[in-house]
Amino acid sequence: MVRALLIGAGGLGVPAAWSLAARGGVALSIWDPDRVETSNLHRQILYREADVGRPKALVAQERLQAQFPGLELEVQVDAFGPHAASQLANFDVVLDGTDHFEVKLELHDLCLDAGVPYVFGGVLGTEGQVLGVRPGQSACLRCLFDEAPPPGAAATCAEVGILGPIAGIVAAEQTRVALGLLADHPGGQLWSYDGIRDRARVIPIPRMSDCRGCGARRHLRGVLEAPPTFAEGEEADTLDLSGRSCPTTFIETNKRLQGLPPGARLWVQLTSDESARSVPRSCVAAGHKVLAQRVDGRHHFVLLQRAEGN
Ligand SMILES: [Zn+2]
Repeated sequence: MVRALLIGAGGLGVPAAWSLAARGGVALSIWDPDRVETSNLHRQILYREADVGRPKALVAQERLQAQFPGLELEVQVDAFGPHAASQLANFDVVLDGTDHFEVKLELHDLCLDAGVPYVFGGVLGTEGQVLGVRPGQSACLRCLFDEAPPPGAAATCAEVGILGPIAGIVAAEQTRVALGLLADHPGGQLWSYDGIRDRARVIPIPRMSDCRGCGARRHLRGVLEAPPTFAEGEEADTLDLSGRSCPTTFIETNKRLQGLPPGARLWVQLTSDESARSVPRSCVAAGHKVLAQRVDGRHHFVLLQRAEGN
């Protein structure tokens, strides 16, 4: 029997756990240190009002085991972290249902190092992203997003909020991608969902040879580097993404570029240095070109040229 590890029994982890349990043939392990809160109930469908204050992992275990008596399931009321990394070797796939980008990057890196397939899932407001990573073969999360934004730069779920059904849609896609990885699908495709337009797009992400996750710059994980070269005086429209952070900055930039004719140019204005460094890298991964960058006080401008094809 294949084994799946779910980190987080919240908006993503609960629907993913339910679908994997209902499908059968997958032994589950669920880790979550949190307790059920009233604000969770609209999207974390295993929990009821009477569960408020109880550990999510234990409630999830009760409900799943009552509904699927044959399910092989174990839970941990603990946060997964480097202290538990040696356990990753017991699993065939890891589904990431955590809700902070830094935590996701850490879990992703642990999975890369352990050689265990990993499924990123992110939801913010009405948008979601999923990326399946097959270590050593597909692009990894850092091929796309180099590093985490600094504390406070990225909007979190708690600040922006999550539309309940979007979490369910993203969790369903995460489950689909996880089952694909278990069936030897290659991974490395970013699925990006826009809940306002009800539109999903799939962007193939190539491996980057100098990646901090899976490439030559692995030793630079968590190290701040100087921003790259700057240039002045290039005329183009500006997309203002000040105050926003990855992955939203990449998704918005790519969306705007896709709406322009091939070869068109676009300046993107960003606030955070870390996020600013992620946008050019992510756009190159999506096939666009970085023509110039410049820094003006707290603003970082990137001049991009839309891919000629697609
Ligand atoms: Zn990589």
